[in-house]
Parts: sequence; C-alpha cells; structure tokens
Amino acid sequence: MKISASQAAARERIAAELASVGLALPGTLSLQRYRCGKPTCRCRADPPQLHGPYAQWTRKIDRRTVTRRLGAAEVAAYRPLFDNARRLRALVAELQALTLAIVEADEAPTQPPIPATRRRRAS
Ligand SMILES: [Zn+2]
Repeated sequence: MKISASQAAARERIAAELASVGLALPGTLSLQRYRCGKPTCRCRADPPQLHGPYAQWTRKIDRRTVTRRLGAAEVAAYRPLFDNARRLRALVAELQALTLAIVEADEAPTQPPIPATRRRRAS
C-alpha cells in the first residue's frame, strides 16, 4: 500500500484524536414533550401547553430499543459523554474513508470491480 504524506498526516491526526476521546456513551439524548391522558389538562387546551421537555436516553440493547428518562443532573453529566460518542463515530468514519481511499488507489486499474451479485455470493 502506498500512503502519501498527506494521507499519513491525516492518519496521525485521526489516531491522536481517537486517543484523546473520553468516555463515550452509546445511544442518543433527546428532549420530548407530550400530552397526558387527562382530558381537562393544560396539555389539551387551545393552544396546548405540552408537558416537559423531558430528557430521554434511547439506545439498542440486544436489538431492542430501550428508553430511559434522565434527570437534569444526569443530562448535565452525560451530555459530554454523548458528544464524545458522536465524535468517536465521526473519527471512525473518517479513518475508514481514508483507508478506503488508500486501498482503492492501490488497486490495479486493469481489474474491474466485482459486480455486487458476485460479491454477495463470495462472502
Ligand atoms: Zn397533561
């Protein structure tokens, strides 16, 4: 594999940033407002005053979506960890794109790419 000086520099930068990412919490943090079941509640008035916002932490556990409500202190403590996870995903995507560019530049131009149908059968 041939790696150019700028590609090597990009790899070094990504590696350094990956090393500096702190704790990373999986899932997403979102704020939800909702209507309750009481017919006379302010959330059913015109204009409606919805309940919330409530912070929710949603993530997948064993292919199931699990949602947990977070308090204000938890939101303050966890928000940087969600940001770290987002940064981590972006860096991994960047490293993969860089690696793909290096590998594709390395491939012999005389070899056509394997069609998708054949590739699927081969794996
Ligand atoms: Zn209500």
